[in-house]
Amino acid sequence: MNEAQDIFAIPLEDEAYLVYAPLHGVAFAATKGLVGALPGVLTEGEGEDSVVAFAREAGLLRTPPSPVTHRRGDPSPTEVTLFLTTACNLRCTYCYASAGDAPATFMTMDVAKRGIDFVIDNARREGAPFAGVNYHGGGEPSVHWKLMTESLAYARERAGDLEVIAASAGNGVFTDRQIDWMIANLNGGMSLSFDGLPEVHDKHRPTAQGKGSSPRVMRTMRRFTEADFPYAVRLTVTAEQIPLLPDSVEFILSNFTPKRVQVEPAYQLGRHEGKPDAETEDFIAAYREAQARAARFGHELIYSAARVGTLTNHFCGVTQDNFCLSPSGNVSACFEAFSEDNEFADVFFYGSSGPGPGGYTFDMDALEKLRGLGVEQRSFCDGCFAKWNCAGDCYHKSLAANGRGEFAGSQRCHITRELVKDQLLSRIADSGGLIWRDGRDGEPCAVHGDGGDRNE
Ligand code: SF4
Ligand code: SF4
Repeated sequence: MNEAQDIFAIPLEDEAYLVYAPLHGVAFAATKGLVGALPGVLTEGEGEDSVVAFAREAGLLRTPPSPVTHRRGDPSPTEVTLFLTTACNLRCTYCYASAGDAPATFMTMDVAKRGIDFVIDNARREGAPFAGVNYHGGGEPSVHWKLMTESLAYARERAGDLEVIAASAGNGVFTDRQIDWMIANLNGGMSLSFDGLPEVHDKHRPTAQGKGSSPRVMRTMRRFTEADFPYAVRLTVTAEQIPLLPDSVEFILSNFTPKRVQVEPAYQLGRHEGKPDAETEDFIAAYREAQARAARFGHELIYSAARVGTLTNHFCGVTQDNFCLSPSGNVSACFEAFSEDNEFADVFFYGSSGPGPGGYTFDMDALEKLRGLGVEQRSFCDGCFAKWNCAGDCYHKSLAANGRGEFAGSQRCHITRELVKDQLLSRIADSGGLIWRDGRDGEPCAVHGDGGDRNE
């Protein structure tokens, strides 16, 4: 409709439209007549009085602020993500990292300490309210238990009266002693991978010994629930499990109390490369049904790129100086590029231990390239109504799908747009059926790198 102002008319059925102005923070249902009359009003400020009055009342005649931000100067992160190990106690069929296939690597305490010292010093210098320590990547962090517990104890001691917020991703196969420690120490919570119905979960998430892991994960969730510990659940959906997604979501919400439930189609990476595609119309239909069931429990499902309520030019921390350390101590911006052997390591690794600030040497050319990957730089995303919510989707995935050339979209774009449309229509309905005004209702999750996602 007026893409220069990021105001979009999205066709619905029967000549009805959904008008979405993300930067103005407004969406409303419109007739063909209104959609035809609005462009003149928006560009010339002229038109029928009633249309001008409506546009003014909706806030469309003002110039909204830009959501674009861009990091500059030396990186000064106040959060570190430690990829403790590539070892894992599960052998998930869709593991993006193929964890357990290659000889495992383990981080040392020296590597962890250097990263922790750096972010605590930065947080102090900048007056940040807390320093962050996160555990993630490439394998199961809790398998390197000694370092997980000792590094966090070190961080808290080193931080003194500065708060340390600690969070982890995990597969949920923990001992009781580990669960006790997590409840007592991970004040930022945990993101657990659990695929829903036990038979669905066990098909794709066996232990290294080939047994189903669902009893262990459900025990962990029960203990987390009893302790009121904040955890999120992430479901990964393979093509053949799509029809069971609604039942899986209902099973989780009937039995457990996660703060958030995230659903993503399995990516064709790692052990899942070449497997049937789950980014399909069937996925969208199953997601819609699963969302309807989740709504009965007061939940809105999360799909990482459909984020109405969040306006940003960054899909994840990759463009915002994400500071993640590989087991060898090198600096990566991406949760999926957890190892120097990753196909796109040259894109995502931008530092190593060395004589620079805080004990690191940064490759500023590599970092500037990452900072320049914001959605405003992607011509393919210009004119997409989901642009400021999706922010270009996962950069690692687009490299895997498109190669290193210009981004040319993916099947996920269609899923994202359909789910953004659903979110807008449901917000309009909840606001009385005519118009929805954005109250900025949510920020992305830190554990997943600001909306980041991966097969885990
Ligand atoms: S074109 Fe695709 S990647 Fe770009 S903003 Fe739209 S949905 Fe996201
Ligand atoms: S969302 Fe994609 S690009 Fe961002 S950290 Fe995760 S895997 Fe990497």
